Amino acid sequence: MPLVIFTLILLAWTLVACLSAYSNHAQMKQNFHALARERGQSLFDLMEVTREWNARHGGIYAPVSSQNQPNPFLDVPKRDLKADGLDLTMVNPAYMTRQISEIANSRGGIAFHITSRKPIRPANAPDEWESMALKAFETDRTPFLEQTGTGADAQFRFMAPLIVKESCLNCHAAQAYKLGDVRGGISVTMPAASTLAAIERETMRMLVQHAAAYIVISGLMVLLYLRAQAHIQTLDETARIQEDLVRKRTQELLEANAALGRSNSELEQFAYAVSHDLQEPLRMVASYVQLLGRRYQSKLDEDADAFIGYASDGAKRMQQMITDLLDFSRVQTKSDPFQPVAMDKTLDLALGNLDLVLKETQSSIEADRASLPVVYGDKGQLSRLFQNLIGNAVKYRDPSRAPHISIKAARQEGFWTITVEDNGIGIEPQHFERIFRVFQRLHGRGTYEGNGIGLAICKKIVERHGGRIWVDSKPGQGTRFHFTLPVLPEGKARETNKSAKP
Ligand code: ADP
Repeated sequence: MPLVIFTLILLAWTLVACLSAYSNHAQMKQNFHALARERGQSLFDLMEVTREWNARHGGIYAPVSSQNQPNPFLDVPKRDLKADGLDLTMVNPAYMTRQISEIANSRGGIAFHITSRKPIRPANAPDEWESMALKAFETDRTPFLEQTGTGADAQFRFMAPLIVKESCLNCHAAQAYKLGDVRGGISVTMPAASTLAAIERETMRMLVQHAAAYIVISGLMVLLYLRAQAHIQTLDETARIQEDLVRKRTQELLEANAALGRSNSELEQFAYAVSHDLQEPLRMVASYVQLLGRRYQSKLDEDADAFIGYASDGAKRMQQMITDLLDFSRVQTKSDPFQPVAMDKTLDLALGNLDLVLKETQSSIEADRASLPVVYGDKGQLSRLFQNLIGNAVKYRDPSRAPHISIKAARQEGFWTITVEDNGIGIEPQHFERIFRVFQRLHGRGTYEGNGIGLAICKKIVERHGGRIWVDSKPGQGTRFHFTLPVLPEGKARETNKSAKP
């Protein structure tokens, strides 16, 4: 992996880690705020329940004391009473709220403040924050929570609206409030320093955890990257060694091939020379054996006559074999230069040479001439190829039916496949390979004429042209010989269009 990509991945990971830390911190803050909101709401609810209890009684009476002076803002008929010589004064919900707030405030923790936009008691007038909340309650009655101040002065300020209920109207109907109106609100102020400190502590712990995870994972990534790089280097090195090896082996193979080619052609030259030079002494042996036969026929004993006959026959066969071998060698040694050759014309040549036998055997030929290509090769040899295959198709005919031979070609990628099919006696699959070898025959001389050289020559011709030959057959039904020839290269094709001759 290139360094740039790895750096990008590392950057992406850093971004993910930072985002995670940030969202954790935000979530934590949100949780603490939700807790503060719940706490404020509970305290507010408790206060409201107490006030409702008081309002349901239409206010309660408590002895007048220094902390419970008659409320000058309470304008009701029986605000002050005397009972058993004890001075009592009415404590309505608002006065009670104020008194509870004072107790709470004096303890220096949570503070309550009952307030309204139209306060009866001026001290109940809202501060700036409360005014903002009261104004907001006119359209949306959702309770408010906000953190104000910092450090030791930090506070959570909660405020919820006071809604006019039936029991409130006793005192507040005169202010033209109706049932369900927002009459004011109670703000609950809670110290937030300890909560903020907790948030800070948690944030710190979370940051430490993130940093540790970041360092460990980043370290692992770097480690993995370095190991991968080392691995890639080893692979590259191995690939290079293998490439060198392949190059070396290819070179060796090419050299071996060239050597093989050289020795092959030497061998062919040798075979040609030997078979050519053998002809002369063999001709001498054959003629003298024939002379012996003619001169001493019936003059010696019967065995001598038979022996002379065998010797003469053997010499003749050997002469034929040498001729065939020479023929086989000549495919390589005595060939015409390659040129563009129209295969339908070579077929016609072959059919012309076989004319007599085709007529005698009433053979029918079905050639798809349009499919036959123009190839690059030796015209004489390619015509011989057709001649051998068609000749065999006639020779190995089924006695029960007239030979029918079809010839066609098809293109497959860079090669033409030409097929010669007959309806003859067929060949057993186990002989498919063998029949292409020199002097290999499946029948005795008495059954079918021949020396087993025809298909070997076909194979040699096809291979010389860069193709291959094979057979498939169903014994008793017929045989198909297929051979391939390379498709004519572009340049040669143009040449052919101008000058292709039969
Ligand atoms: P030859 O025909 O002289 O024996 P070939 O090399 O031409 O030699 O053929 C080798 C053997 O392959 C033949 O002996 C024959 O058994 C078999 N063969 C060749 N062509 C056919 C064919 N078309 N149908 C059946 N058998 C065949």
